Parts: sequence; structure tokens; C-alpha cells
Amino acid sequence: MRVLLVEDESRLAETVRRGLVAEGFVVDVEHNGSDGLAAAATGDFDVVMLDIMLPGLSGYQVLRELRTRQVWTPVLMLSAKDGEYDLADAFDIGADDYLTKPFSFVVLVARLRALLRRGAPERPTVLTAGSLSLDPARRRVTRGQTVLTLTPREYGVLAFLLRNKGAVVTKSEILRACGTRTMKVTTTSSRSTSAICGARSTHHSGS
Ligand code: CA
Repeated sequence: MRVLLVEDESRLAETVRRGLVAEGFVVDVEHNGSDGLAAAATGDFDVVMLDIMLPGLSGYQVLRELRTRQVWTPVLMLSAKDGEYDLADAFDIGADDYLTKPFSFVVLVARLRALLRRGAPERPTVLTAGSLSLDPARRRVTRGQTVLTLTPREYGVLAFLLRNKGAVVTKSEILRACGTRTMKVTTTSSRSTSAICGARSTHHSGS
């Protein structure tokens, strides 16, 4: 179980590294975005823990570049403070989970194990459902020949549902994946997807 930790706070990085090693993980640490990207892009890791505020490239930039390069290693984002960033952005560009500092080490290990169990299936470059397609690398959603304009949250919900196509997902999973507690969504993928697409399609055809 190889973990890459990209974290510029040396003491935190060392504490987490030691703890994870004691739990049986193999841990590599990088202290800035550029080195983190270079290491993560090798695809040699089972999971990447990525701080958002990093010297060099930000965690967001590293994540976006990884996904653009078709590296689908699960990424757990670390954010300094709740509310400082819109974590929906992180999910939009392909993060799999996040933790807000300071975090409990026990929770961190549980989250990492969950990501490792889920693994990194080769995700399709373009996610599809019928005539609907979503290209994560280009953040582009189309239905047939029509390009749909979605808000970041709509995009996040749609991407989450498409990645879980065929599975029943709970409302709380959707909200968590989209980094919000306030959005009103239905609980099955087909209904939510069609609700989003129906709303946008109406908007587009009417404008
Ligand atoms: Ca930092």
C-alpha cells in the first residue's frame, strides 16, 4: 500500500508519515506541488494525499494536471480550514475525498483504507449515459451535439452520478461528494441526472 503525501508543513508531514508507516503503509513525502505532481504522475501510488495550499503548484493544479494526464490514482485532498476553499471545486476536478485540518489520525487511516478498497479502476476518459457525455479532462458536458452549461455543483453531481452509474447512491453521499449540505437532489441516479439535464436542456432550448 503505497501512499504519496504532498504536504509542505514539515512537522505535519513527518507526523503523518510516521503514523502511516506504523500502520503498515509505505509512504513517500513531497513538500511542494511540482515535486508532488512529478511523483504522483508516475502512477506508482495506491493513493495520493494532496494538500491544497502548496508552494509551486497548488493542490488543485496538481490534481487537475494528474487527471488531464489520465492518472486516476485516488486523491484525498487536505484543506487547511473549513470554508476557506470551495471543496466542490476539488471534486469537480477529480478528487475522491477530503479532510479538513486538523484531522484525526484514526479518521485519516479509515479514509485511506476506504479509498484503497475502492481502488483506482481505469476510469473512462469520457463518462456517458445514453446520449449524455461528460469529459472530466476537459470539464465538458454534452448531450448529443449540444454542449450543456452546468454550474460547478451541477457538474459535480452529474460527474458523481455518472461515476456511480448503475449503483444506488444516497443523498448524503451525493452531498458529500459535492462538498455541500444544502443542495436539493433526489436519491437515484437516473432521476437526478434527468432532472439536471432536463432543466438545462429546457434552459438551452429556450434561450
Ligand atoms: Ca500547506
